[in-house]
Amino acid sequence: MKPIVLITGGSRGIGAATALLCARAGYDVAINYAHDAAAADAVAEQVRSLGVRALTVRADVSDEAQVLAMFERVDAELGPLSALVNNAGVVAAAARLDEMSLTRWQRVFGVNVIGSLLCARAAVMRMSRLHGGAGGVIVNVSSRVAQLGSPGIYVDYAASKGAIDSLTLGLARELIGEGIRVNGVRPGIIDTEIHASGGMADLVPGVAATLPIGRMGSADEVAQSIVWLMSAASSYCVGTLLDVGGGR
Ligand code: NAP
Repeated sequence: MKPIVLITGGSRGIGAATALLCARAGYDVAINYAHDAAAADAVAEQVRSLGVRALTVRADVSDEAQVLAMFERVDAELGPLSALVNNAGVVAAAARLDEMSLTRWQRVFGVNVIGSLLCARAAVMRMSRLHGGAGGVIVNVSSRVAQLGSPGIYVDYAASKGAIDSLTLGLARELIGEGIRVNGVRPGIIDTEIHASGGMADLVPGVAATLPIGRMGSADEVAQSIVWLMSAASSYCVGTLLDVGGGR
């Protein structure tokens, strides 16, 4: 039986690139998405063409009932979970704090933080030796802005990623004795559609040009780090936050 990974937000960008690399590494892959079923299906087709199973699961990760139902579908249709990639994340339009609304913060923290907590809890219930599981790995997708703060653009998003860093550090130490290894990646400026949702699509390439590496990263460059943290090659990494930021 092949190992089984659930990738939240696996239908586009970093999540989709991770799904394909996981398939190449021999995982059966559950691809979560929120809205765009066609995009998720297209990733699933590519995953299957690599000789492993794929399942697409629609669920808003900020909704507890939907998350519980998603994990039950993975149990029933693929089998026992071996790995979780907490990748689903959102930004809102670039703004100063004094222009931001409570509704916006509830969405950003709901998806980025509560979503990661809900999925991590469901994964722990399945993978922890304390609960009869066989162990596993969790990789959380944070951001370099957790340490940079993103002033004038989205301090709320940066703060939500700061929470992901703390979650990664704490959960790693909480779970390593139960056979679950938890780590995280902090991507820099990566060429995906997320920037358009923040109204930043036109500005981002120019900012990336000022980075030491002089360009945006690709989703695949982040996925390589995620899959390495999932693999036995990183077996002594526990609570590691790997910066994938081109020198940012
Ligand atoms: P993206 O291209 O915008 O893709 C986001 C993915 O998340 C899509 O599959 C989307 O599915 C899914 N999603 C959105 N809201 C969701 C929800 N409520 N429940 C479940 N799935 C949801 O994003 P990306 O750039 O690849 O970013 C992936 C992760 O990397 C995020 O956590 C982001 O914060 C982080 N990151 C990105 C960058 C960057 O520069 N791109 C930098 C640092 C960190 P639908 O299309 O169906 O909504």
